[in-house]
Amino acid sequence: MTEAYKIIDHIYDTVVVGAGGSGLRATMGSAEAGLKTACITKVFPTRSHTVAAQGGIAASLGNNSPDHWQWHMYDTVKGSDWLGDQDAIEYMVREAPNAVYELEHAGVPFSRNQDGTIYQRPFGGHMQNMGEGPPVQRTAAAADRTGHAMLHALYQQSLKYDADFFVEYFALDLIMEDGACRGVIAMCLEDGSIHRFRSQAVVLATGGYGRSYFTATSAHTCTGDGGGMVLRAGLPLQDMEFVQFHPTGIYGAGVLITEGARGEGGYLTNSEGERFMERYAPSAKDLASRDVVSRSMALEIREGRGVGPHKDHIFLHLDHIDPAVLHERLPGITESGKVFAGVDLTRQPLPVVPTVHYNMGGIPCNYHGEVVTLGKDGPDTVVPGLFAVGEAACVSVHGANRLGSNSLIDLVVFGRATGHRLKEIITPGAAQQPLPKDSADLALGRLDHFRNANGGSPTAEIRLEMQRAMSAHAAVFRTDELMAEGKEKLTKTYQRMNDIHVTDRSLIWNTDLIETLELDNLISQATVTMHSAFNRKESRGAHAHEDFPNRDDANWMKHTISWFDGWGGKGGGVRLDYRPVHEYTLSDDVEYIKPKARVY
Ligand SMILES: Cc1cc2nc3c(=O)[nH]c(=O)nc-3n(C[C@H](O)[C@H](O)[C@H](O)COP(=O)(O)OP(=O)(O)OC[C@H]3O[C@@H](n4cnc5c(N)ncnc54)[C@H](O)[C@@H]3O)c2cc1C
Repeated sequence: MTEAYKIIDHIYDTVVVGAGGSGLRATMGSAEAGLKTACITKVFPTRSHTVAAQGGIAASLGNNSPDHWQWHMYDTVKGSDWLGDQDAIEYMVREAPNAVYELEHAGVPFSRNQDGTIYQRPFGGHMQNMGEGPPVQRTAAAADRTGHAMLHALYQQSLKYDADFFVEYFALDLIMEDGACRGVIAMCLEDGSIHRFRSQAVVLATGGYGRSYFTATSAHTCTGDGGGMVLRAGLPLQDMEFVQFHPTGIYGAGVLITEGARGEGGYLTNSEGERFMERYAPSAKDLASRDVVSRSMALEIREGRGVGPHKDHIFLHLDHIDPAVLHERLPGITESGKVFAGVDLTRQPLPVVPTVHYNMGGIPCNYHGEVVTLGKDGPDTVVPGLFAVGEAACVSVHGANRLGSNSLIDLVVFGRATGHRLKEIITPGAAQQPLPKDSADLALGRLDHFRNANGGSPTAEIRLEMQRAMSAHAAVFRTDELMAEGKEKLTKTYQRMNDIHVTDRSLIWNTDLIETLELDNLISQATVTMHSAFNRKESRGAHAHEDFPNRDDANWMKHTISWFDGWGGKGGGVRLDYRPVHEYTLSDDVEYIKPKARVY
């Protein structure tokens, strides 16, 4: 069956899958280290979701207010609700300032202060004085188009190095042998040719899986393909129950209004015109961390104080801010307000609602980017040849809740760290063993199966069923009953994958087939998300469990690890286990930050 597909073989030292901020930074690092490097991407690099990032990138430059990397570390640990690994967090916040200067030198046109230094704005959960406050100005930005500027600069830089780009190639599956990764199989979208990449290392930089929900701020391409591949390879994902809802997605459209809007002075009101965040977070108010603001909004709506005819959303006010400031610092969202909500935000409030935005969970790895699993060396056993970076990864620096502007810094810091590690452990051009005979069987068997799928359920129908189940059963507030029902619904939806119908059988730009492969990746991750959430009997960060409203460090300060028995007729079972949180720092320069109650 798979003989029907013609395979073109390639040999590289490193193959990076993904050309968003993290993938491009890892590609640059690998190529700079003299390694023969390929970067495979299903969309043109500058169309990756990173391009949509608005608000900015966090680093303790201290340009607009006093700051220190230890304050950034404290805020990140507290933001993570003590589920983040403190060695990795220390690494990230210490490297952050240099990473931002590196971007500046690479050509990112950051907004400036009068004295020429990089302008920094306040963002949720970022404070001075080890959380004591007042808010710190830590988020460097290029107006409200930071990701756009960053991605273009990184792409331009990566062209300087000798990396080969395979643009509009869809990675199908990893090639695994004896527990090690040996390469990856991809399909060229234009002509359907199959490409087998043999490499000393594969770096997964495939982004998040926001599209497992009905509305999300993320692009339609955010289907978590790397996580799907990892699950099919028999490896686990980590902390999948933690899904971030951004407080301000435009009501109805889901399009993001950056937290920078509140950073510049925007505030939320309910149907009574009340600035309700003052009640929930007396000190940080509208700039409390995202999980806190989203929950407060959901409570206001639930208690009947939502706005609009259905009382189902909240107002964001920017109409008190000088239009010149809006024009200079938030031009993009001014336009989004007009296009997606029909609102002139210099005069009217914007209708907003908490919207799925970011996946804290992902492929477990250490701060060198190496993928880890439970194994012969304990909970941090390295999977040889496999790396993960960016939103696809779970390092874990964000723990149970990510602070705004901490993802862009994660992309470049760990993309760079991965480049360093590759340089250390890989000899350029070293001979590679031949691949096992069956190296393409998993990828091509699955491709062929879906390409010829002739059941009664169109892909779009199954996808919608999954998205609705996720939005209804794994949202901002969760209960045992809701999630138990969610598990059942998803099991039934997964069974419908056996009855899927793909109409287009060609191999030329077959979007029907690609969306089906993406759905297969999404649904495995949706399922482990629901099971991991059902299993965690506490509330922590973005996981707000109404039957267990408190954080329970004695029993639950641990990472959830989840496996999925999906592909090959295994029926979609989930297995869960745990990894300890790293309760230690990287150096002696800072002490382990002990858990305490999280108030803003
Ligand atoms: C609207 C919006 C605004 C945001 N604003 C901010 C902000 O201001 N600050 C901040 O810190 N964070 C922000 N975030 C979060 C942050 O932007 C993302 O987490 C981050 O950009 C993800 O980058 P990435 O490199 O992991 O992946 P992405 O940028 O999502 O790129 C994924 C890459 O993987 C490739 N890929 C995926 N699957 C395959 C496959 N099967 N085969 C081949 N290639 C594949 C894609 O082609 C793409 O190149 C925002 C997110 C959104 C959605």
